[in-house]
Amino acid sequence: MTTRCSDPNCALTPFRDVDGHGREVPRCPHCAAGLRPDVVLFGEALPALASWTVKRALRDCDLFMAVGTSGRVSPADSYVRSAEYAGARTILVNLEPMDPPNPAFQEQHIGPAEDILPQLLARL
Ligand SMILES: [Zn+2]
Repeated sequence: MTTRCSDPNCALTPFRDVDGHGREVPRCPHCAAGLRPDVVLFGEALPALASWTVKRALRDCDLFMAVGTSGRVSPADSYVRSAEYAGARTILVNLEPMDPPNPAFQEQHIGPAEDILPQLLARL
């Protein structure tokens, strides 16, 4: 729901954007570079503040749930180990078993998240 300029040096502040843009890449009103969703895509690093926030949250984590993931995408693939180290209960919910399995997950629930999560969360 947020869009930002693809030029990291541009002064455009990310903004709420709920409009469709059709087939043309929308252009930045400041520098004419392409606009893009304000999300982290494959191969990109997390912004420093987000990375710091995750690491801090993992130190105090008592329940870590990963839902709908291969568990192979960095840096998120290492979060479960940090949570386990902090003493958290670690749970994976996914359509298929993790291959190879990650021993840091204490529980794996295989199936559709919309079926598993309500049952799982009712027991927490
Ligand atoms: Zn720009």
